[in-house]
Amino acid sequence: MGSSLVKFHAGLRAAAALFIVIMLTAGCSPPRGSMCQVSTLGALMEGVYDGEWTVRDLKKKGDFGLGTFDALDGEMIVLAGAVYQAGADGSVRPAKDDMRTPFAVVTSFKPGKILRLEEQPDMEGLQAVLDKAMRSQNLPYAVKIEGVFTRVHARSVPAQKKPYPRLAEVTGNQPEFEYRAVRGTMVGFRLPRSMEGINLAGYHFHFLTDDRKSGGHVLDCALAGGQAEIAELHRLDLNLPRSGAFLEAASAGANQAEAKRVESAAGKHITPDGKK
Ligand SMILES: [Zn+2]
Repeated sequence: MGSSLVKFHAGLRAAAALFIVIMLTAGCSPPRGSMCQVSTLGALMEGVYDGEWTVRDLKKKGDFGLGTFDALDGEMIVLAGAVYQAGADGSVRPAKDDMRTPFAVVTSFKPGKILRLEEQPDMEGLQAVLDKAMRSQNLPYAVKIEGVFTRVHARSVPAQKKPYPRLAEVTGNQPEFEYRAVRGTMVGFRLPRSMEGINLAGYHFHFLTDDRKSGGHVLDCALAGGQAEIAELHRLDLNLPRSGAFLEAASAGANQAEAKRVESAAGKHITPDGKK
C-alpha cells in the first residue's frame, strides 16, 4: 500500500514535469494558423519608424513574412526562418538578430494548398488565380510563390532621418527597379477587409531572388511559371508599441486609399518625380 502510494506520487511528479515541458515548448512556437504583427500599417504611414522588436524576437513568432526595419531602412523578407534586408538599391543582405523593426508580419508557414502556376502576364492575372484557390474573402492567407519571373517590378526605401516624413512622402520618391528572367520567391499575404486599419486589405508581396542577392516590395510582376503555396490563417497576435511616437501618432489605423497608393500595384505608374 505504502509503496504504491509512493509510486503514485512519483507518477504525479513525472506527469507534472511533462506538463511543464509541454507548456514551455508550446510557448516557443506560435499557435497554428496564427500571424504575428508588430505595430500597425497606419502608424508606419504616419512616420512611426522607430524599431520596436528585434529580428531575434520576430523569428520566434514565425519563419515567413515581411516588413521593414528601424528608420524605414529597406524592405524585410522573412523566408524559411531567415530574415533579409533589401536595401534602397534592391541589393539584399541577411539581417542581423539585433536589428529592429517598426512594422512586420510573420507566420509559421504551413501551407495547406499547393498550386501549379502557368504563365501570368501581370500581378492582376496572378492574383485572380490565387483568389480562386482561397476559401473565403474573410480570412487571412499567407502565400509563397516560387518560380521563374519574366519580370518583377519592385521598390525599396532608403533609411530616413528624424523628424521622419510620412510614408507617402518617402514612397513618392522611391527607388524602383526591374528584375528580368529571374528565379525567385514572392513572400506575402492576402488580408481580409476586417484587417483594414491595422494593415493593408488585399495582397502584399516582397520578392527575393534565388541567389538571395536582390529583392524588394513587389509593385508588379509577370510569371513564366512556378508554384504557389497557400496557408489559411485565422488568428492575429497584434503587438502595439507601448511607448514612443506610436502613442502620439495622428492615426494608428491605416487610411486604405492612401495605403493602397503607398503599397499596391498602383505604384507602378509612379514616375521618378513621384507624379502619377
Ligand atoms: Zn511591402
